[in-house]
Amino acid sequence: MPRLKCGVKTCVFYRERHCTRASIIVKGATALAEEETRCQSYSRDVPDKRDDSYLMEIGSIGEINYQMPVYCEAVNCKYNSHRICYAKEIKIDGSRALHPDQTFCSSFEVK
Ligand code: SF4
Ligand code: SF4
Repeated sequence: MPRLKCGVKTCVFYRERHCTRASIIVKGATALAEEETRCQSYSRDVPDKRDDSYLMEIGSIGEINYQMPVYCEAVNCKYNSHRICYAKEIKIDGSRALHPDQTFCSSFEVK
């Protein structure tokens, strides 16, 4: 289970360079480079819309989770085994992301 750092400040789950989710999903089944991966769990933060229905949709925002399971489809990454990430530490990036496609796992290393 990797320690996870995140630089995606536009995500509703982002807090203090970390993530508040219990787990994340990374996509990129054919990725051969970090830019071809993405954090599928990204959800754009829209502070004005943080009403009850929005929070119900995304689930409650908990505390920072420093270490979490990462379910990853980037099978060409050397840290991937059976679609689970076994890196000790990973970093999700995409500082101006407005969509999951604009995020990526900067810890990707091709096998
Ligand atoms: S982009 Fe992914 S890792 Fe970063 S805070 Fe959002 S859900 Fe968590
Ligand atoms: S380091 Fe590799 S296996 Fe782990 S989340 Fe990133 S791309 Fe997936």
